[in-house]
Amino acid sequence: MSYQIAIDGPAGAGKSTIAKKIAKEKAFIYVDTGAMYRAMAYYLFSQRINPEDDALVGEKCQEADITIQYEGGEQVVLLNGENVNAHLRTEEVGNMASFTSKNPKVRERLTALQKNLASKNNVVMDGRDIGTCVLPGADVKVYLTASAQVRAKRRFDELSAKGEACDLQKIEEDIIKRDEQDMNREIAPLKQASDAVLIDSSYMTIEEVVKEILALCR
Ligand code: C5P
Repeated sequence: MSYQIAIDGPAGAGKSTIAKKIAKEKAFIYVDTGAMYRAMAYYLFSQRINPEDDALVGEKCQEADITIQYEGGEQVVLLNGENVNAHLRTEEVGNMASFTSKNPKVRERLTALQKNLASKNNVVMDGRDIGTCVLPGADVKVYLTASAQVRAKRRFDELSAKGEACDLQKIEEDIIKRDEQDMNREIAPLKQASDAVLIDSSYMTIEEVVKEILALCR
């Protein structure tokens, strides 16, 4: 049986940073499920599909073959065989992903892929529905959150460091909108699993959060 660590939470709570460190520490693979939803959104966007057309999104998502592989320990997302990592981290793709991830066909496809990865490997998997839907039997479940203000500031600092022009107010508004969309959708909404441990990272360092999760694994 593989060992499974599930980390869920809202956008910008620090899930990927923390999950990567834990994966490294435990020599597990890190699965960034958000990147898969982003790759799907990117595909639909590049095909000029109206994200509000549920039937069309459901149909077109079947054409996107999304797989992941690892290069030097980093997750590489392949969309129909092409490495699309460089296109996934924009706010535009993130917001679009939050919209298209509501579609049942999109979720069905990506959830199956995620379950398969976790059945064959020891994983740290982060997302919105890992502890509740994808890996309900995970060995460790964490719900990682932080205030919207702190999360917006972190995203702002991250984008500014990359030299991208951005507006703190607009980022906070987008984060709140995305939380709302993710928490209120019909299928697999973002919520804390009943057996998940809640960690509020607003006033914690990355190292403190990592230490707390590693302690849960023991
Ligand atoms: O985590 P990240 O910001 O990359 O996720 C982008 C979007 O993908 C989220 O806002 C959410 O709507 C969707 N997502 C999801 N289920 C997951 C991971 C991400 O619905 N397990």
